[in-house]
Amino acid sequence: MARAVTRIDFPTSPAGRVLPFPEVASVAMNPTHALPIACAAGPSADVLVVGGGVIGLACALELARAGRQVRVLEMHGLGSGSSHGNCGTITPSHSEPLAMPGVIAKGLRWALQADAPLYIHPRFDLTLWGWLWRFARRCNDRHARPATQAKAALLQASRTMLEAFVAEHALDCEFETRGLLYAYTDPRQRDADLHDLRLLREVGVHAEPWDAGRMQVEEPSLRDDIIGGLYFPNDASLRPDRYVAELARLARAAGVELIEDCAVLGFCRERERVVGVDTARGLQRGRDVLLAAGAWSPLLSRQIGFELPIQPGKGYSITFDAQRKPPRHPLVLRERSVCVTAWGSGFRLGSTMEFSGYDASLNRVRLDALVRGAGQYLREPPSGAPREEWYGWRPMTYDDLPILGRAPGCDNLWLATGHGMLGVSMSLATGRLLADLMCGREALLDPAPYSALRF
Ligand SMILES: Cc1cc2nc3c(=O)[nH]c(=O)nc-3n(C[C@H](O)[C@H](O)[C@H](O)COP(=O)(O)OP(=O)(O)OC[C@H]3O[C@@H](n4cnc5c(N)ncnc54)[C@H](O)[C@@H]3O)c2cc1C
Repeated sequence: MARAVTRIDFPTSPAGRVLPFPEVASVAMNPTHALPIACAAGPSADVLVVGGGVIGLACALELARAGRQVRVLEMHGLGSGSSHGNCGTITPSHSEPLAMPGVIAKGLRWALQADAPLYIHPRFDLTLWGWLWRFARRCNDRHARPATQAKAALLQASRTMLEAFVAEHALDCEFETRGLLYAYTDPRQRDADLHDLRLLREVGVHAEPWDAGRMQVEEPSLRDDIIGGLYFPNDASLRPDRYVAELARLARAAGVELIEDCAVLGFCRERERVVGVDTARGLQRGRDVLLAAGAWSPLLSRQIGFELPIQPGKGYSITFDAQRKPPRHPLVLRERSVCVTAWGSGFRLGSTMEFSGYDASLNRVRLDALVRGAGQYLREPPSGAPREEWYGWRPMTYDDLPILGRAPGCDNLWLATGHGMLGVSMSLATGRLLADLMCGREALLDPAPYSALRF
């Protein structure tokens, strides 16, 4: 797939190697894969983790630390999915769900505009329209409050764990605790965000409104016509590809077997148990199986016999070399919904949300919208040729909560997926919670809001 202009420094999916999922699915549909006799063969592990993104690796690491013997099966390279080129912000500030009151009106204005922050590709897809319908029905206060509480619990636990984890293991992932700064050009957007702060404050998110003068002092990279900002001091940032590499390093050191180029093709199920996992490298068996395949998860769950309400929410990023005068804070250029993250090793513009199924093309209009958006806010828009132009599929649930815990009707199948726009931010608490549940320990958090049984 021609999604990487240049590879940076941690494996992304090499050009031409990405297996379009329908191809995988058609193999998995082969009924011969359900033969129990075939499932009796193959190497065995205590836990098989399907998917080597930030979520699969965080879970694998925690499980290994809890004494389980873990094998990760990854279709391409570790961290080659959505975990690769995302913005790397760690954001308890994003505790509100996407489905908030007022979102539908905004979404309709944007939906068919090719360079808007949200785009829905017009096509006949009953699954997508069903998902959007359920999403729309949740855009009210009754649903927003409990969803915010559940997201906040996971985000805040993860944020706290991350700082200690980075220090304890001297992680080399450019972790910074400089907060996150929203920049505004339109007073109506700022006022709407200030109004929404009530709910965020209820769940313990601290935010400071900054006027235009303070913005110029604190963030001189922004243009003079920025009318104000909103600063979230407890947010943080890191370089996501390096974070994934570090998780993989620690997992390996803890005894986890990491197997790349090992697509899972299907499952052998006997009554309430998965008794074998069919992979491109042969059959594997595990006492427990954990599905952590991000946006691909619903394609795999269908093989096992249940639906996961996850849509791929496509986002883009462009990465440049480190810039001469980078912003001091990670930024959200609010009206354009562009995120700006500057590390010592690079500078990234990212975001946009596109519902176009598993479309694997790089959309030039949407990539250009990131650069154009940056030009409206930054004194010095990024210069130099991009090092990488990228897209990723976020695993989006319609209630914007991840799906964590035991799979419905299957005793030894577990789920850690559906992290939407916040998988990096939620990674460590997800790993801990899954290990707690799978090992029968007291759970870090009440797992009920994340259970697959809620659908
Ligand atoms: C533009 C953009 C910006 C973002 N910014 C942020 C941010 O600032 N902060 C934040 O917290 N989050 C952000 N996100 C969201 C974040 O990237 C995701 O939530 C997170 O990466 C999900 O991790 P995952 O491990 O579930 O999925 P993935 O990283 O996609 O991993 C799933 C893995 O499963 C593998 N897989 C799939 N099918 C199979 C199979 N059949 N067999 C074996 N392996 C398989 C895939 O190859 C992949 O490696 C952003 C996303 C995008 C697109």
